[in-house]
Amino acid sequence: MTDSAQKQSVIFCDFDGTITNNDNIIEIMKHFKPDGYEELVNQIITKDISIKEGVGKLFSLLPSSMEQEVIDYALNHATIRAGFQGLLDYCQANDIHFLVTSGGIDFFVYPLLKPFDIPAEHIYCNGSDFTGERIRITWPHPCDDACHTNCGMCKTTIIRSYPKDRYKRILIGDSVTDFEGAKLVDTIFARSHLIEMCEMSGMPYHPFTDFFDVIEVLKNQRG
Ligand SMILES: [Mg+2]
Ligand SMILES: [Zn+2]
Repeated sequence: MTDSAQKQSVIFCDFDGTITNNDNIIEIMKHFKPDGYEELVNQIITKDISIKEGVGKLFSLLPSSMEQEVIDYALNHATIRAGFQGLLDYCQANDIHFLVTSGGIDFFVYPLLKPFDIPAEHIYCNGSDFTGERIRITWPHPCDDACHTNCGMCKTTIIRSYPKDRYKRILIGDSVTDFEGAKLVDTIFARSHLIEMCEMSGMPYHPFTDFFDVIEVLKNQRG
């Protein structure tokens, strides 16, 4: 048996733009168009402000009284990428530990994943508080001492908690927020911006369109 065959496989799977076809935070903002949202989105993209600061400020543009409207919009407009249930079944059958590592918010992440029977403790995302005048995002999974990016929900902190000498680490993602994690893992599945970033850095990756593509590669890796 090779070394890697003895390691437990663990998948760190992004949510927005990966499990869902769409990016829920951006779509909520584009739909409700609170004053100042475009500038904040641009500042996040250009990295003038951290993801944590940007996402926190974006939601603080919306009053808590819009809670139900915002939740309903997100749940009614998100679609799940094809093959997701198949991937979960494959992981279950092959003893692959499946984690959702999302920079999204609990009020859409948990309900959208509800049909899929993923234990709640395997889902990492940000929290929300609608008790004040404006929507407040809470941050239950902050960066550890090794990360200085102010991620909000820190993917690399979670990945580091599964040490590489004991785990075969697999990341599935689509964007900038997956890139630091991608540098740490053994296998990268990428779409969209993450593909460009892997290309520019010369990092090997498997492109995917849906989760059936991911299952095929995982099957081949297992021989
Ligand atoms: Mg994403
Ligand atoms: Zn971080």
